[in-house]
Amino acid sequence: MKLLRRLALVLSVFAPLLVSATPPPALPDDPACTAEDRTFMARAYELARKPVRDGTGAPFGAVLVLDGKIIAEYSNCEVATHDPTKHAETGLISAFGAKIDRATFARATLYTSSEPCTMCCGAIRFAGIRQVVYGTTEAQFERIIGDAPPAHPLDSREVFTRTAPGTVVRGPLMEAEGLAIHETYWPTVLHRH
Ligand SMILES: [Zn+2]
Repeated sequence: MKLLRRLALVLSVFAPLLVSATPPPALPDDPACTAEDRTFMARAYELARKPVRDGTGAPFGAVLVLDGKIIAEYSNCEVATHDPTKHAETGLISAFGAKIDRATFARATLYTSSEPCTMCCGAIRFAGIRQVVYGTTEAQFERIIGDAPPAHPLDSREVFTRTAPGTVVRGPLMEAEGLAIHETYWPTVLHRH
């Protein structure tokens, strides 16, 4: 009995800690997303795993799709290039900007493994891309990297609404799969000294 009581005491102390350490669940898919969106998001997640495997960048990937076909893809390569503008979305636009005309960008859909940051929203706007589908949300990403949430968060929908009205944004999509990629990467990088 004494042992059981001790066990109960230990559990009463540690169980709340275990509960509080449990991350919030992945958000459900945006109901506006289609089966085709899932196919291309799966590819964006593959591209997000690549830079981690190769040691070239952080786990982000982007795919540009036109009429059901991939016409460009890109993985974050900030580590290899020491260039903080080489996010998946800005990198794709920069690498393919000379080969893809503005009318094509306007008809294409950009799939990105994580919600575009404000820098990438700007690049998407200036490239003339009108449709964006993202995987994981910015809020969940900030939680994983341990940043305190901003007092006045500015999500991608708000940026597009205010700077490029008419841009269609869908997401989150398959967030659990995307968060799993981040959860295995960031703790190893952020705690390395
Ligand atoms: Zn970005």
